[in-house]
Amino acid sequence: MPIVGIDLGTTNSLIGIWEEGAPKLIPNAHTNLLTPSVVGIDDNGEILVGETAQERLITHPHMTVSNFKRWMGTARKTTLGDKSFLPEELSSLVLRALVRDAEEYTGEKITEAVISVPAYFNDQQRKATRAAGQLAGLTVERIINEPTAAALAYGLEQNDDANILIFDLGGGTFDVSILEKFDDVMEVHASAGDNYLGGEDFKNRIRDHLVGQHQLVDIKDEARLSKLAEQIKKELSVKHSFDYKAEISGQSVNGSITREEFERLVEPLLMRIRQPLERAIRDTDFQVAEIDHIVLAGGSTRMPVIRNLVGTLFRQLPLSHLDPDHLIALGATIQATLKERNEDLKDVVLTDVCPYTLGIGALNEVHGFTEEAVMSPIIERNATIPISRAQTYSTTSPKQKIVNCEVYQGESLNLANNIKLGMLEVKIPKPTKEPQHVDVRFTYDINGTLEVTAQVWGEDKIQKKVFNASGVNLSQAEIEARFKELEELKMPPWKQGPNRTVLARAERIYEEVSGDARELLLDQMGQFRKALEDQHLRNPERLRKEFSDFLDSLEVSVFGGE
Ligand code: AMP
Repeated sequence: MPIVGIDLGTTNSLIGIWEEGAPKLIPNAHTNLLTPSVVGIDDNGEILVGETAQERLITHPHMTVSNFKRWMGTARKTTLGDKSFLPEELSSLVLRALVRDAEEYTGEKITEAVISVPAYFNDQQRKATRAAGQLAGLTVERIINEPTAAALAYGLEQNDDANILIFDLGGGTFDVSILEKFDDVMEVHASAGDNYLGGEDFKNRIRDHLVGQHQLVDIKDEARLSKLAEQIKKELSVKHSFDYKAEISGQSVNGSITREEFERLVEPLLMRIRQPLERAIRDTDFQVAEIDHIVLAGGSTRMPVIRNLVGTLFRQLPLSHLDPDHLIALGATIQATLKERNEDLKDVVLTDVCPYTLGIGALNEVHGFTEEAVMSPIIERNATIPISRAQTYSTTSPKQKIVNCEVYQGESLNLANNIKLGMLEVKIPKPTKEPQHVDVRFTYDINGTLEVTAQVWGEDKIQKKVFNASGVNLSQAEIEARFKELEELKMPPWKQGPNRTVLARAERIYEEVSGDARELLLDQMGQFRKALEDQHLRNPERLRKEFSDFLDSLEVSVFGGE
């Protein structure tokens, strides 16, 4: 049974296996390697994932959801029809669809996976990702940082020793990692990033621009507006200006936008990209000139404005011979294969880092005066993992019975500016007048999960942290219960997926066109549906292709093309 590698992306997800000495990405039923990370539910309560759900974002906005990776690690619920889902549950449905594709491809049952996450994902977000795997019936063998996965994929096909910077701008997150490759050893020296910066934000700048430019008020058609903004963004990656034409909430939205205008709109985002880049370099001993290669990962690095920014900052052209959409999934697949101890990769060694500082809130004592609580680091950012570090803290008042160790992630001295991961309540068994001492140990493993233990001096008992206190992460029992419920949800038969998608697309176009075009479309839809119902149908692919071609030509004639 192979271990699969999965890139669970904000916008698209991919799955791969090791085949004939190399990582291979697996196509879905639509023959695409990228499956949109979109989930929907249809009127029969069937779960739709990927292309079909994506087509329904506009026609069934209350029954469809996208971009939920951005909510991983939060308790935000999404209601679809009469059901409600946590972000990890939505992610698990995407994973289930990917696993089904892999099972169709390999003919084997898939139960183990390596899943990639943004390097900057915190403990709760990683736990949510692991839970998503479990909810999909998978054992998550390893969580791998996305830029590290990209580096692994790049490093494997590169023979020379080199210092490599991975610049990974996806749909919702930005990560940068700097690593050194020598022989078969890949050593990450630093990672930095921003969990809330990605292609979505670039799209939203255009969306807001359209709202201002066309004085759109009372927007009921958010999904259509967003689709238009996305289209403009992508067109401007290949064209210097783009003429757009759409109808949104009954209002014609026609105009033109140039690449320069777009670049001005996104300037604040470019500033935000610079910060993690500069920090990652500062955290290594490398000079900018010592970076040999810059590798781009994530779909948003297709934007010329990003390539130019990277080129200017590093005075070299980023490498673009590898598909930025595929790198992370390929790397996750390589990591899965390393886990299997496959002979093909027996010499490859990978070391990673903890991308952020981890510590606890402690009272600061200056010249004998106790001041307010500040961040006391235990594991410094970019320490090589796995790592285990301990610090000793003391009680601050006589007869103190409890020490509350509040665990934080972040770089600020000011606790409020860091992310609170949870709290460990350490009991002092024999309170005394004199201060007592507690050793607090942080252990950060290769998956990026943190274990916190505490031991009061003179006591044998080690007190351990259970991080579910905030109610964000599901307990094991909750996961098992939800697994059963989710398992009962049905997906349409695998082979039907493409037909469902083309019909969903036709429904979307129906809403967008009017008059004769509608009549024509309705007629063709009827014929396609009827033909599908025909049990003796020999060549549904050809029929679908003809119907798709018809939809293409209709869209071109009405909107001037995608
Ligand atoms: P990922 O999360 O790596 O799948 O990246 C998806 C992001 O890449 C989305 O925000 C897409 O809008 C963006 N993207 C994909 N292709 C292009 C393109 N040609 N131009 C601009 N952005 C793109």
